[in-house]
Amino acid sequence: MCRALEPLGLVWIEEPLDAHDFEGHAVLASTFDTPIATGEMLTSTAEHAELIRAGGADVAQPDAPRIGGITRFLKVMALADHRNLQLAPHFAMEIHVHLAAAYAREPWVEHFEWLDPLFDEHLEIADGRMHLSPRPGLGASISDQVRACTVAEHEIRA
Ligand SMILES: [Mg+2]
Repeated sequence: MCRALEPLGLVWIEEPLDAHDFEGHAVLASTFDTPIATGEMLTSTAEHAELIRAGGADVAQPDAPRIGGITRFLKVMALADHRNLQLAPHFAMEIHVHLAAAYAREPWVEHFEWLDPLFDEHLEIADGRMHLSPRPGLGASISDQVRACTVAEHEIRA
């Protein structure tokens, strides 16, 4: 498939193999000019380190919620930067847009509207680029719609 897609000059080919086949991805990354993107299914910093060490990704796709948070994401980002990889965090762009903005090379940030109902504020996108909010923290607050689905207290009776 990679051979057939190569003439199209794609920005990347995403996860063409099983997510944990680091060596297989490395073979593809070294064989083809089209960048290989992968990593969104990995669940730890250690897995990302193994993938990056194997040379299995031209484009790293860590997912902060999936690997345990922002601190772990920053560790993966440092490893990716050390290997001069492109960065394209997976999903959860309300978090990732802030992290990606701190990367050494202009990153990609995915955009889905699926999470819009969760927050009062929405990501600002113009001319193909996301613009960071000047609001504190991640710049998003939980919407009333979501608050209505949560409870502040819950009593459990035996
Ligand atoms: Mg993806």
